[in-house]
Amino acid sequence: MSSVVDSKLRQIWTEALSDVKGAIGDGAFKTWMTKLEVVAIDENVLKIAAPSNFVRDNVLARYSDTIVKIINSYGCTVRNLSIDVYDNNNTVNNEKYDDAQKIKDYNDISVLDKRFTFKNFVVGKPNEFAYAAAIRVAESEIPSFNPLFLYGGVGLGKTHLMHATAWAIHHNYPNKKVIYISAEKFMYLFIKSLRFKSAMSFKEMFRAVDVLMIDDVQFIGGKDTTQEEFFHTFNELVDNNRQIILSADKSPSDLDGVEDRLKSRLGWGLVADIHPTTYELRLGILQSKIKQFKISIPDNVLEFLAVKITSNIRELEGALNRIVAHSTLVGRHITLDVAHEVLKDILRSNERLVTIEVIQKKVCEYYGVKLSDLISSRRHKAVTTARQIAMYLCKNLTTKSLPDIGKSFGGKDHSTVIHSVKKVKERVETDRTFCADLEILTKSLES
Ligand code: ADP
Ligand code: MG
Repeated sequence: MSSVVDSKLRQIWTEALSDVKGAIGDGAFKTWMTKLEVVAIDENVLKIAAPSNFVRDNVLARYSDTIVKIINSYGCTVRNLSIDVYDNNNTVNNEKYDDAQKIKDYNDISVLDKRFTFKNFVVGKPNEFAYAAAIRVAESEIPSFNPLFLYGGVGLGKTHLMHATAWAIHHNYPNKKVIYISAEKFMYLFIKSLRFKSAMSFKEMFRAVDVLMIDDVQFIGGKDTTQEEFFHTFNELVDNNRQIILSADKSPSDLDGVEDRLKSRLGWGLVADIHPTTYELRLGILQSKIKQFKISIPDNVLEFLAVKITSNIRELEGALNRIVAHSTLVGRHITLDVAHEVLKDILRSNERLVTIEVIQKKVCEYYGVKLSDLISSRRHKAVTTARQIAMYLCKNLTTKSLPDIGKSFGGKDHSTVIHSVKKVKERVETDRTFCADLEILTKSLES
C-alpha cells in the first residue's frame, strides 16, 4: 500500500516544517502551517489534511511550491500537493467517520462467511495440526496459547479456519467480543484514525475485544507506524489474557519488513503451519463439496481433478464449480472428457513441463509408494505396478531415450523399460481399474 503514513514520513514532515518556517517566516507559518497534518505520499502526491477550506486554499495558492521543494530536499519525490479538509467533527469530504460504528461492523458476524465452518473443513495430514489448534482456541475459556499464528500458502484454508473459529466462539461463548479483520483493513482504520487524531479511540476499540483475529498480517511488513501500534495493541491484549489469532503466508521469522522484536513476539504462542495439499486431502475436499451440492460426479472425474489441480484449494473448488455449472446448463453428463474440455485453461496453468521427476512424483503419490521403492529393484506387487506405469508414462510423455529412462529408475537397463511398457499395454486390455488409473495419470500429466 503506497498511501501509508509511516514514522519516517512523519519525521521528514516535522523537519521539513521547520525549514518551511525559515522560508516563509514565523507569522505566516503560525497562521497557515501549524494545523496541517501529513497524511501520505501517494504516487508522487503529498497528501495533507487542513482544518478548513480557507487554510487549504491559501496554502495551495501560496506555499505549495515551497512545501514541495523542501520535502523533496529530504529525498522524497513529490510532484504536487493535495489537501483534504478535516474539522473537529471528524468530517472530511463530507464523509462521516465513526470509529465506534466501524468497529461495530467488524464485530458483526455478517463479515464471516457462512460456509467457512469447522464442519465444512476437511481435515487431512497437511492441516490437522492447524485445525486442532483452532478447535482448542475455540473451546478454551481463557487462551491456552497466545497468539495462535496460522501460516501457509494462498488458498490453503487460513481464512476458512479463522472464520470457523470465530463461528465456534460465537456459539460457545456468545458474550465474547470477537473481531475478525484483515491486516489491510486494520491499517486503513489506523491511518484514518491518525488523520483525525483519534488514535486513542482506535486503541480503545481494539483493546476492548476478547478475541482479535487479523488475517494476512504479512501486509503489515514495512508499515512502521502500524507495526508499532499493532505491537502495543497486541501486548496489551495478551497481557489481559485476550486471545489473538493471526494468519500470514509466512512464518513469523520469515515475515519481510517486520521488526525483530515483533517477529519474536509473534512466535511466542503457537505457530501452526498448513502444508500444501496431498492427493487424499484434495479428493476428500471434492467429495465433501459434492455432498454439499447434492450432486453426483463420477469418481474418476473427482480423482482426475485431485491429481490435476494441485495449486490450491480455491482453484480446486473453482474447477469443480465450473464443471457443475457446465453440466447443469448444458445438461450433459459429466465425464472425464467433459471435465477435460471445460477446464482446459485451468489445467494448462496447473501444468508444468512433464519431466521424469514429475512423473515419478505423481505416480508415487497416486499409488502411495515411496520414491526410493519406485527406483529400487523391489518386486512387491504395488511397487512393480507403479514402476511399470511410471516407465510407460516417461516413454510416452517425455522425449527421453529408453536408456535415460532406465537410468532414472535406479540405473536400470533399457530392456527393463521396454518390458514395462509392454506389460502396461497388455494389462490395459484386461484390467479396467488399471486402465482407469492410467487414464487419470496420463490426463493429469499431458500438456
Ligand atoms: P487462504 O486464506 O489460506 O488463502 P481460504 O481459507 O480462503 O485460503 O481457502 C480457500 C478456499 O478453499 C475456501 O473456499 C475454503 O473454504 C476452501 N478450503 C480450504 N481448506 C479447506 C478444507 N480443509 N476443507 C474444505 N474447504 C477448504
Ligand atoms: Mg485468506
